[in-house]
Amino acid sequence: MTSDETYIIVGGGLAGAKAAETLRSEGFDGRVLIVGAEPERPYERPPLSKDYLRGEAGRDKVYVHDEEFYGQQGIELRLGRTATRLDTSGRELELDDGEIVRYHRLLLTTGAEPRRPEIPGSGLDGVLYLRSVRDSDALRERLDQGGRAVVVGAGWIGAEVAASARQRGVDVTLLNPLGVPLERVLGVEVGAVYRDLHADNGVRLRMGAGVEAFEGRDRLERVRTSHGDTIDCDFAVIGVGVEPRTALAAGAGIAVDNGIVVDERLETSVPGVFAAGDAANAWHPFYGKRVRVEHWANAFNQGPAAARNMLGRGEAYDRLPYFFSDQYDVGMEYTGYAQGVDHVVFRGDPASREFVAFWMEDGVVAAGMNVNVWGVTDAVKRLIRERVPVDEKRLADPEQPLEELAAA
Ligand SMILES: Cc1cc2nc3c(=O)[nH]c(=O)nc-3n(C[C@H](O)[C@H](O)[C@H](O)COP(=O)(O)OP(=O)(O)OC[C@H]3O[C@@H](n4cnc5c(N)ncnc54)[C@H](O)[C@@H]3O)c2cc1C
Repeated sequence: MTSDETYIIVGGGLAGAKAAETLRSEGFDGRVLIVGAEPERPYERPPLSKDYLRGEAGRDKVYVHDEEFYGQQGIELRLGRTATRLDTSGRELELDDGEIVRYHRLLLTTGAEPRRPEIPGSGLDGVLYLRSVRDSDALRERLDQGGRAVVVGAGWIGAEVAASARQRGVDVTLLNPLGVPLERVLGVEVGAVYRDLHADNGVRLRMGAGVEAFEGRDRLERVRTSHGDTIDCDFAVIGVGVEPRTALAAGAGIAVDNGIVVDERLETSVPGVFAAGDAANAWHPFYGKRVRVEHWANAFNQGPAAARNMLGRGEAYDRLPYFFSDQYDVGMEYTGYAQGVDHVVFRGDPASREFVAFWMEDGVVAAGMNVNVWGVTDAVKRLIRERVPVDEKRLADPEQPLEELAAA
C-alpha cells in the first residue's frame, strides 16, 4: 500500500458501491470504507418493483457485486450501521455505535427515502412503502396472497407496482391526484398512453383522487378517497415520491437545498466532501443550473465520477439524465430534462405503444422517450445536445433515420 489515506463512503447503495469500485480501478490503494445503514450489501433497486417483486428474479440478481468482491478489493463494509455525525473540521465520522473513523476524503451517497404523507391511519398494518429489498419482500408476500390493493400515486413506483400486482393477479385500484398517470414527468398526452395501458390490463384508475384516510380496526380494510367514497382493500402501497437524505450533511453545516448541493465536480460546500446519486443536487454544465436526478443511471455514473474527483481528476459531470421503466410488455427509455415544453412530437402512433416522443422547447428537442423502440438513445442524446432547431416533419417520420437528423 502506497497511500495511508482513508476514503469513506456513507451510503451502501448503487452510487456508493460503484464509487468504491472506481477508487480501486483508478489505483487508489489506501483504506476504503463503505458505511451502509441497510444490513444488505449494496444492491440495485429497479428489480424491486419489477421481476424481483413478482418473484421472477432471485435475490442474487439484485446485488451490485458478488459477496467476494469487497474482500478481494480490500473494501471494508460496515453494514447495518448508520453514520450519525460528521465533523468536517476534524475530518471525523461517527457511527451509531459510537465508533469514530477519521477520513481524508468522504463521499455522501445517502440516497433518498419515500415521502410519508401525514394521512390518518397510515400507520395501520397493510399500508406499505417501497424502497428497500425488505419492503419488496413484504409487498411480495401480500401479492402472493392475492386480494385487493390500492396504489396511492401514479408516478414511476406506483405505476410499476400496479403493473406487477396486476401481473400477479391482484385486483388493483390506482389513485392519483392528477388527470393521468406519470403526468408530472410525461405530461398529459404521453401520460394518457400509460392510462390506457393500465386500463387495458384491468387496473381501476381513479384519477384526480387523493386519500383522505386509511381505515380499519387492526389492519387496513378500506381507503377513504378525497371524493368521499371508500375502496375496500387488503393492502395499500404509497408511492408519492422521495425526499433526499440530507440530515447528516445538514448537521455538518454542508449546504443543502433540495439535496446536498454540489458543484459540477460533485464536491459539496466543504472541500474534500463529495456527494452523488439521489442525494446530490449537482450543478449541471449543460443546463446551467442544479439538477437532482433520482434514477439508476445517475447513481451508476455519478458514483464513479465522484470517486475520480476524490482522486483529484477534476472531471465535470455533464451526462444527460436518463431513466427506464418496464410495465407489462411496455418498456421505455427517457433521455433529457424537459422544463418549459411547448408541445410533443410523436414518431409513430402512441396508441400502438411503439413510438418515440420528443418534448420540444423553442423548436429544439429537450427530451425524448422511446417506447418499445430500441437502439435510438444515442441519436436522441445527440439531438438534445446539439440544441439546434429540427424539422418536426422529419422528426415525426419513422422513415427518416434519427441519426441523420442528429447529424444535420
Ligand atoms: C422500487 C424502485 C424501483 C426503481 N426503478 C427504477 C427504474 O426502473 N429506473 C431507474 O432509472 N431508476 C429506478 N429507481 C431509482 C434508483 O433505484 C435510484 O435512483 C438509485 O437507487 C439511487 O441510488 P443511490 O445509491 O443514490 O441511493 P440509494 O439506493 O437510496 O442508497 C442509499 C443508501 O444509503 C444508506 N444511507 C443513508 N443514510 C445513511 C447514513 N447516514 N449512514 C449509513 N447509510 C446511510 C441507505 O440506507 C441506502 O441503503 C427505482 C427505485 C426504487 C426504490
